[in-house]
Amino acid sequence: MYDYLIVGAGLFGATCANLLAKKGKKVLVIDRRNHIAGNVYTEKVEGINVHKYGAHIFHTDYKDVWDYVNSFVEFNRYTNSPIARIGNEVYNMPFNMNTFSKIWDDVFTPEDAMRHINEEKKEITGEPKNLEEQAISLVGRSIYEKLIKGYTEKQWNRDCKDLPAFIIKRLPVRLIYDNNYFNDRYQGIPMGGYTLLVEKMLEGIEVRLNTNFFDNKEELMSLADKVIYTGPIDEYFDYSLGKLEYRSLKFDTKILDQVNYQGNAVVNYTGHEVEYTRVIEHKHFEFDSTSPKTVVTFEYPSDYEEGMEKYYTINDDKNNALAEQYRELASKEEKTIFGGRLAEYKYYDMDDVIKSAFDCVEKL
Ligand code: FAD
Ligand code: UDP
Repeated sequence: MYDYLIVGAGLFGATCANLLAKKGKKVLVIDRRNHIAGNVYTEKVEGINVHKYGAHIFHTDYKDVWDYVNSFVEFNRYTNSPIARIGNEVYNMPFNMNTFSKIWDDVFTPEDAMRHINEEKKEITGEPKNLEEQAISLVGRSIYEKLIKGYTEKQWNRDCKDLPAFIIKRLPVRLIYDNNYFNDRYQGIPMGGYTLLVEKMLEGIEVRLNTNFFDNKEELMSLADKVIYTGPIDEYFDYSLGKLEYRSLKFDTKILDQVNYQGNAVVNYTGHEVEYTRVIEHKHFEFDSTSPKTVVTFEYPSDYEEGMEKYYTINDDKNNALAEQYRELASKEEKTIFGGRLAEYKYYDMDDVIKSAFDCVEKL
């Protein structure tokens, strides 16, 4: 009946569905949630687009991905510039001259900042082996202790010495006064929300919500020539090689009777004095809110437990090795193709997911 069954209406599934339908293929998309868009889902609360599964800022260096998403909706000029709070202090993120000049009171120029960083990073010799060593060698121990250690321990519930170095390399370190969190050429938030973006991508395509692939696997698979699966890879194989680990989050969202709560979309809390890592004030992602209220979300990292969402893959050596074994199994599946953050077990950003879906459809 269908050329393709796509399991998951997140960005990977929606991109594949859209491109395959454009090529004349008959596509069915299913999702076990009661809405489309996966983790980028936004819903309107008090006239404000609330990022239901955590703050999502679109940024990319891929021109084809940027042109593609802009073909569905317009993006605004949002530039992510989080601030970090620890105790009674406030710092600019990512690590740049604004941060350095506040950490060290004799820093005015890049040379002053480098003098401090070079002095502090002397304790690391050789190639950094873990997140702690990587962080100290990038910005020195003072910044590591204030802005990285506590946040990272809360986020991952692991010692920074037991985490891979690549996690902290996501963040830019700049010797200019520039608070833009990303280096990418293109950045913004879809006007009208991410749900509108995915709605447009799925226009004209049959979507069945509240439909769990595993409740009816044989029957659903028999409906199509090929299956594109975007859920957790270990779940597909019924955890036959063991369970992969994931990190989850709990979101506490409040509607406040005030116009402006924290003056910024993203405020990171980098110390252990509070358990949350970030507070998101959703209206500041947009520039046209006239709401007299505001919606804020406190983000609490959490161990993954049955029934929770699997937000972050944990790409340490142990889990990467197990994921590789699952990928081996996946490569032998004749009818099913695996893609997206959970099915590839990769710490993918949205643009990586779309790019990977482009490649997937190209191969098909
Ligand atoms: P998902 O969005 O997870 O979609 C998978 C879909 O499959 C889900 O809807 C799920 O319900 C469905 N599914 C799974 N199993 C089944 C099943 N058995 N049956 C039916 N349906 C099933 N990226 C950025 O670029 N910028 C950001 O600022 C950013 N912020 C983030 C913040 C947080 C808190 C998190 C967790 C991620 C963030 N990301 C960000 C990453 C971004 O969310 C992902 O790259 C992207 O959403 C992944 O899309 P996906 O389609 O692979 O997965
Ligand atoms: N990080 C930090 N302090 C911050 C923000 C981030 O130490 O104020 C570290 C932390 O280890 C985090 C990593 O940088 O896991 C990547 O941060 P990013 O904002 O990219 O995380 P994500 O948006 O994926 O949650």
